[in-house]
Formats: sequence, structure tokens, C-alpha cells
Amino acid sequence: MNSKKYNNIKLAVGISETVLLFVLTFLFLYMGYSKKLSDFLYSYVESDYVVLILFTILTGLAASIVLFPLNFYSSYILEHKYNLSNQTLLKYFTEGIKSTLVSGAIGLPILILFYFILKEFGDNWWLVFAIAMFFVSVILSQLFPIVIFPIFYKVKPIEDEELKERIKTLAKDAGLKVQDVYSFDMSKNTKKANAAFTGLGKTKRIILGDTLLSSYSKDEIETVIAHELGHYKKKHIVKNILYGTVNSFVLFFVISVLYKSTIPWFGFSSINEIAALPLLTLWAMLIGLIQTPIGNMLSRKFEYEADQYAVESTRKPNSFIQTLNKLTEQNLGDKEPHPFVEWFFYSHPSIKKRISAIKDFIQSKSIIEESQFQEQMN
Ligand SMILES: [Zn+2]
Repeated sequence: MNSKKYNNIKLAVGISETVLLFVLTFLFLYMGYSKKLSDFLYSYVESDYVVLILFTILTGLAASIVLFPLNFYSSYILEHKYNLSNQTLLKYFTEGIKSTLVSGAIGLPILILFYFILKEFGDNWWLVFAIAMFFVSVILSQLFPIVIFPIFYKVKPIEDEELKERIKTLAKDAGLKVQDVYSFDMSKNTKKANAAFTGLGKTKRIILGDTLLSSYSKDEIETVIAHELGHYKKKHIVKNILYGTVNSFVLFFVISVLYKSTIPWFGFSSINEIAALPLLTLWAMLIGLIQTPIGNMLSRKFEYEADQYAVESTRKPNSFIQTLNKLTEQNLGDKEPHPFVEWFFYSHPSIKKRISAIKDFIQSKSIIEESQFQEQMN
């Protein structure tokens, strides 16, 4: 089966990248290269912050060079092989450079803030940093649709009048304005289709890939929008930020304890030492083994809730099921992943589970397709 193979290769490459990064970071610390690099940088510059920035850029660059073959295979060669990509090689690189620069522009200030907190608050860094990250995530969620996303895609309000009218009715029930539905030029990179609910406060909006608008019927698009409105109605972004905050208090605390007690293993004496900081990444990766499935479990719960809302608000369960099937085909999704793979890695339930949950739901609520409903009324 085509989609099975595609997804298995993607997963295998992803796992290999993570394992490789872990092993290399471990060796980098254990063999003393981290110390050598920071000593080398200190021989030219005095400021801790400048050393920190250079150290991060150099190690980041080295990691991306080592991971490049796997990364390129997964995100370019494989996508073309399965006829999912619209990118030229040049486009692939310019998009890659763009996203590196944007992540740098966001990541470096956070790193500097982190190091400042580490120096100022010592062993209590985890508490202060968790509080700081709460504010950072609120600001980033607000900025994402209006500042960050438009760097990558052209975003414009949807134009189709009939579709707009339909969305207006749906959105009114959910309490969102129609002006908050946009399309973006997803087709410049991929043949896949997608939609999302994004933003916070005044910036919240639904964004639809042009790939979705071009090949789906109005009924189908309506159900996708209703699903995204479900995320809005059930306050999933706010809940994610709250979960993320509680999570980061626990996570940073555990990491701070593990970090402090293991720095002597690698010959470091202070938690402030820049050369010791990659050890934080190692611990974060290990704890990620617990965090990933928990985060995905929550995300899947939200997806089921949004699906229920979509069916309840549109009363078009059949169109919605058809749309989900069509999207899975188009995106080459694995219809029935291995249960463990789904449990650990999937942020969305597999299509099979989603459809059976929708069927259970419509039965329990006796929801029938709108057209049939009208027939009965007549
Ligand atoms: Zn969703």
C-alpha cells in the first residue's frame, strides 16, 4: 500500500534524525568538544552572551549539516517520489533558509532570556523561565497569524460569495466573524490540503489552504470550517497554552534537577557554563519521550471534540466523513497506523477512529444528514 510505505519511511527517518541528534550531542559533551568550542570562543570574545550566541549558531549549523541528508530525503526526495510536492529545488532551499532565519529571530532572544534567568536566579531558573515562557507563548500565539505566517504564505480573505454566506451562518453560531476566514497559497509548496484555527484574541482566524478551496465542494469545505470553528468554540488554543504552562513548570523543574546533578559526569562544575548547556537538550529529548504521547493524547481529544462540533453544527455527517476520507487520500495519510505509532506520534486520531467516533456520535445524538432531515419535515 502506497500510503503505508510513505508514512513508515517518514517515521523511520524522523526517528533516525532524533536518535542521531541525541547520540551526537552526547558525544559532543562527553568527548569534551563542547568545552573546547566554548574555550575557543572565549579566547576571542569576553561577553558570555556573545559566546552563547556564537556557540548556538555554530552547533546548530553543524547539526543541520549532519542531518541534512536525512532531512532532504524526507522533505524533498520522498515528497517528489510520491508526487506530493510542488517545490523546485531552488524553492526548497529558499523556504528552508527563510524558516531558519525566522526560527533564529524567535529562538535567539528566547535563548538570551533563558541564559539571563539562569545567571540571575540560579537553581530557581526553572520557575522564572516557566513564567516567562507563558508570556512568550501568549505573544507568539497572537503574532503567529499576522506576523509569522504571512512571511511564508500569501494570506487573503476568501472571495467566494456563496461560501462566505454559508460560513457566516456557521460562524455566527460559534461567535466568530466571517472576516476571520482566510485562504493561503499552500499549493506553492505541496499538493496536500489542510486548514487550521490559529491566533489568540483579536488575531484569531481560520486559515484554509488554496488546495482545499480548489478541489472540494462547498458542502465539504463547510464541514472543514465547522471543524475549525469547533476548535474555537471549545477554546482549544487557550487550553493548549494553559496545558503548556502547567507542563512547562513540571518539565523545567525535572530538567533543572537532572541537569544540576549530572553536569559533573561531563566535567562541568557550574550550571551557568555555556559548554554544559547542550546537556539540557539531552534531558529535554529524553523527557520528550514522555511528553510527546501525553501532548498527542490531549490533541487527539481536541480533534474528536472539533469533529463532534462539525457534525452537530452542519448536520452534514456524510459530507464530513467524505471530506475526511478525501483529505486522507490526498495527503497520503495512513488510514490504520500501528496502534502504538498512533498512540505515541499522532496528533490527530487515525481516519478509521475518527469516522467510527463520528458514527457513534450521530447515533447517540440522532443526527441525520440535513437533506434527509428536510425530507422528513416535508
Ligand atoms: Zn482539528
